[in-house]
Amino acid sequence: MIRRLLHTIRKSYEPKALVLMYHRVAELETDVWRLAVRPQHFEEQLQVLRSNWNVVPLPELVLDMTQGRLRRNSIALTFDDGYLDNYAVAKPLLEKYNIPATFFICSGNIGSHAEFWWDELEHLILSTEELPHNLDIRINQELISFELGKEQHLTEDLRQKHQQWKAFVQEPPTLRCALYLKLWEQLKPLPSHLQHQYLQQIKVWAGAPGHARPAYQSMSLEQLQDLARNSLFDIGAHTVSHPDLASLSPEAQRQELVKSKSFLEEAISREVTLLAYPYGSCNPETVRLAAEAGFHAAVTTQDCLVHPTSAKYKLGRFLVDDWSGKRLDACLKSWLTINANAHAHLAA
Ligand SMILES: [Zn+2]
Repeated sequence: MIRRLLHTIRKSYEPKALVLMYHRVAELETDVWRLAVRPQHFEEQLQVLRSNWNVVPLPELVLDMTQGRLRRNSIALTFDDGYLDNYAVAKPLLEKYNIPATFFICSGNIGSHAEFWWDELEHLILSTEELPHNLDIRINQELISFELGKEQHLTEDLRQKHQQWKAFVQEPPTLRCALYLKLWEQLKPLPSHLQHQYLQQIKVWAGAPGHARPAYQSMSLEQLQDLARNSLFDIGAHTVSHPDLASLSPEAQRQELVKSKSFLEEAISREVTLLAYPYGSCNPETVRLAAEAGFHAAVTTQDCLVHPTSAKYKLGRFLVDDWSGKRLDACLKSWLTINANAHAHLAA
């Protein structure tokens, strides 16, 4: 009993650290997956991080953890996917406040001008002015039949609902949102060539032009190289084609990990030792393959703190929303306290 109590007390006082997860610094028309923080809010967040918190590079945080000297309440910043705005907007602000960050890059999109499939789908379904009355499409054996009824035409009311919808936390408020979510769920586990094939069919159905929007592009190779030249920043891998790794065969997973790592290492002439699983998706095989490929650690999308005994291929991260600096500060305090208590609770 006393031993258990001591264990609980020790656990609640052990140092905890936290990894933040960003995707974009931009102002978007719709943002279903809460990917974007507006530039003004991002700058406020950096000001708060600079004055109130101890921000460290993620590789340093991982090293501290593995060497048993994790610094209490240290915080690392990460960006997923490699969007162009990471370079154009986030980089100068991070430099201004001298804040380190790790960028997890989806290597297949570098320099391609292509949009990610989820952005294209979101734009097609939620922002196309006029859509056909119904959609019948067979995706991987499943027939999807969907009627849009009155929502064929995008009204101002629909547009506003789409702007406010956050798929993580709310039921779809319109038929178009429900259709988007249905298609997203069907496409997510597929390999990228099938995602693009089905997306092409949906594009033809929607009668929408196939132009990629410049604001949704990834960095060019030169921009990635320039980013990596600043010692404030680290580059990590985020696979080649952003697959749901746990849905792939072990060999397909291995290819995604090894190819993205070697592409990035060649591009930036530095070793790439950190990995972020797309959608946070991984299984025991993924973890084994990540270690085998030479990654030293990997991050998920699960919001849990890093503590001295965290599994280094499953480090949690907290999504940062489009919050003011003050709100982020409050969130950081609550995450670090609540999670510490929850942890102590579990140990008991
Ligand atoms: Zn991603």
